[in-house]
Amino acid sequence: MTTGKVYLVGAGPGDPELLTLKAARIIRDSDVVIYDRLVSPEILRLIPEGAAHINVGKQAGDHPIPQKEINHILVRAARSGRNVVRLKGGDPFVFGRGCEEAAELERAGIPFEIVPGITAAQGCAASARIPLTHRGLATGVRYVTGHCKANEPLELDWSSLADPATTLVVYMGRANVEQIAHQLIEHGLSADTPAFAVCQGTTDGEQQVWTTLRELPVAAKTVKLTGPVLFIVGRVVALARGWKEYRHALHADEVAEVA
Ligand code: SAH
Repeated sequence: MTTGKVYLVGAGPGDPELLTLKAARIIRDSDVVIYDRLVSPEILRLIPEGAAHINVGKQAGDHPIPQKEINHILVRAARSGRNVVRLKGGDPFVFGRGCEEAAELERAGIPFEIVPGITAAQGCAASARIPLTHRGLATGVRYVTGHCKANEPLELDWSSLADPATTLVVYMGRANVEQIAHQLIEHGLSADTPAFAVCQGTTDGEQQVWTTLRELPVAAKTVKLTGPVLFIVGRVVALARGWKEYRHALHADEVAEVA
């Protein structure tokens, strides 16, 4: 039996129309789709009738399937001669563990291809109308993970991250938001730097929070954000209409208090 091929496919940030044409074609031609929890139901509807769906984002009891087991599932499915799609939220190579899966396929001698997707940073920034770079405000952008092992400090190079000319996008940072804000301020980033938190970005359920770095930990915990959260910190946030409305409302409140 010939070995099937595995496609590591980015499903984009949530809006099903942000899927690439290539990803849509590959999903339609698939025999097996292995997906995780950030993939939207509309995209899952593209899976042809008769193809197997395997949800590896959750198991009974709510525990995700360990990465090793996912790697085995991919290898086994391809060895059975089927076309396998490994569908991941956003881009498979941005905090998606796509490289670990690719390495396992390489070791097993299974042909594979990477199909990029729109990562959350780009999708969410566009949806909120935040330019990630802007001449004179941000000469670069950095994507970092705010996730670390329980009870361990984040291993980030804070002094280089606390750069007012770089837009910072933090994935998976909600649990450590106090540490993130504190370290950035401690390392010299102004506490007044505009900050934005979003969950379910690019979908109908998108929830946005406009604030400052100083207020970010409180804002991110107080506002009901249902789902994984992305933070964008930097001067470019102030260019968005949402930020201007937030400042306007704040100012109106201050005037009301004084009066
Ligand atoms: N590979 C994915 C990222 C996976 S890590 C990508 O390229 O986008 C999961 C993190 O992504 C979440 O904790 C959150 O920080 C972010 N994320 C993904 N989709 C999101 C969305 N629609 N809205 C807000 N954050 C999102």
